[in-house]
Amino acid sequence: MVRVRFAPSPTGPLHIGGVRTALYNYLFARKHNGTFILRIEDTDLTRYVKGAEEYIIEALYWCGIKIDEGVREGGPYGPYRQSERKDIYKQYAEILVNKGDAYYAFDTPEELENLRKEYEGRKQTFIYNASVRNTLKNSLSLPENEWKQLLASGVPYVIRYRMPVNMEISFTDIIRGHITVNSSTLDDKVLFKSDGMPTYHLANIVDDHLMKITHVIRGEEWLPSLPLHVMLYRSFGWEQPLFAHLPLILKPDGKGKLSKRDGDKMGFPVFPLYWPYGETARGFREDGYLPDAFVNMLALLGWNPGTDQEIFSMEKLIKEFSLEKINKAGSRFDPIKAKWFNHIYLQKRPIQTLALEFREILRSKGYHIDLKRIEKLIELVRERVSFVRELWNETSFFFKPPESYDSEAIKKRWKENSPEILNRLSTLFISEKDFNAENLEKKVREWCEKESYNTGTVMHSLRIVIVGTLKGPGIFDIIEWIGRDETLNRIKKGLATIA
Ligand code: GLU
Repeated sequence: MVRVRFAPSPTGPLHIGGVRTALYNYLFARKHNGTFILRIEDTDLTRYVKGAEEYIIEALYWCGIKIDEGVREGGPYGPYRQSERKDIYKQYAEILVNKGDAYYAFDTPEELENLRKEYEGRKQTFIYNASVRNTLKNSLSLPENEWKQLLASGVPYVIRYRMPVNMEISFTDIIRGHITVNSSTLDDKVLFKSDGMPTYHLANIVDDHLMKITHVIRGEEWLPSLPLHVMLYRSFGWEQPLFAHLPLILKPDGKGKLSKRDGDKMGFPVFPLYWPYGETARGFREDGYLPDAFVNMLALLGWNPGTDQEIFSMEKLIKEFSLEKINKAGSRFDPIKAKWFNHIYLQKRPIQTLALEFREILRSKGYHIDLKRIEKLIELVRERVSFVRELWNETSFFFKPPESYDSEAIKKRWKENSPEILNRLSTLFISEKDFNAENLEKKVREWCEKESYNTGTVMHSLRIVIVGTLKGPGIFDIIEWIGRDETLNRIKKGLATIA
C-alpha cells in the first residue's frame, strides 16, 4: 500500500518547486492506487505565516491535486497539522535519551553564539558533536545528579541527537542512487527545542512513521538531512520509507535556483496563485494560465516520459509517471515554453467557456455582446493567442473603426486606383443580399477577375480601411462580423481620411 505525503511548512506562498513536489507525490500515489496525504509542518513558530496554509490548499485544489488525508479531510492518522500533535513528540525524544542515542543539553543560545564566534576568529567552524560535546553543558558531560537537578529546576534545555563518531552511514535514494556519508561530518542536531516543540527532523520522522509513509518524495534541499533521518530510523528501530529527492527548478539561464526575484525581473510568476499578504506576488492563475497547462508544464520540469510527447493530461501523467524517470540534474524554467503550453490548452478549451470569460473583459470596456457572436469572434482569432486577456488585442478593431491608418501599409499597398476600387466595392456590398464571408469572398473574387483588378490590391485596400493596418484574420470574416453598415461606414471614413 503506497502512502505518500506532501509536508509543506506554512511560511509564505508555495513556490512552484513545492507544487511540483506535491504533484509528483500525487501522481505516484494515484499510479499505485495509494494515498496522498497533506501534512502541515508548522512547528517552527518563528517562521509561521498567516494565510499560508490556506494558500497551499487552494493551490493544490486549483491544480486538480486531490488530497486523501489532510487537515481538512481528516483521516485515520490525524491530526495532520503538527502543532496539534505537539504532545506526541516529546516522548519519542525521550525514548532516544533513554536508549543513549540522544541527550539533554543546557547550553544557552548566548554561550553557543560565543563559541561560534570564537571558532570563527580562529577560522574554524564550530560543530556541536562528539569532538566537543564533553566540554559543553549536557547530560553526557555533567555528572548525573547535576544534570538531573538542572532538569528538575526548570532550566531551559534542548534534546540533541548523539551522532556516532566516524561511522559510515550508507543509504539509497531512488533518484540519486547509493550515498555514503561519514558521521563525523555531521552535528548533534537538536530534536526537541526549549520552547516545547520538536524540530523539523524529529517531527518529520515520527510522523512519517506514525502515518505509515512508504515513500518520501521531496526537494533536493532535504538531501543533507537524510543521513540524520536514516540514523533516527535506526535508533528507533523503525523500518525506513524509500526516499526520492527531486532536482531543483533552475532559473531560465540555468544558473541557480529559480527565485521570486527572477520572476519579478523577467516578468513571470513563480507561485501558482497570487499572494496577497505583505510583499505581494503574482500567480500563474491570475496571470491567466489554465490549471491543466500549468500542471503539464510543471510535470515536465524534472520528469520525462522517455519519448517526445509533451502534452499530458493529469490522467495521462498518472499513467506514465515513474520516479525512475525523474532527472538527476536541475531543470530550467522556460517562461516561453510555459506560454506555449497555455497556448495549446487554450486551443482545446470549450468555446463557450472562453466566450464567458471574454464577455467579462468586453463588458468592462462597455461592449455588451451576445455570447454566440462572441464565440464566433473567438473562433476567428483564438489560434493567435495564448491567454484570454490577449483576445482583446486581436479583436479590438471589430468593435471600433480605426483611429489612424498605418502609414507603412499605405505606402506599400495603397494604389492609385484604391479609391475607385473601394467605391465600387461599396456598391457591390450594398447589392449583396447574403452578407456572409463565403458569399462575399466568392463575389469579390469573381468581380476582380471580370474587371481585371489585382486581387491583392483589392484585398489590401479593403483591409486598410476596415482594420487600419494589414493584420487580422480573413477580411471577409471581419466584414461579416461587423456587418454591412459598419463596413460601408469604414470604407467611407477611410477614403476621406487617406485621401
Ligand atoms: N516541512 C518540510 C518542507 O517545508 C518538509 C520536508 C519533507 O518533505 O521532509 O519542505
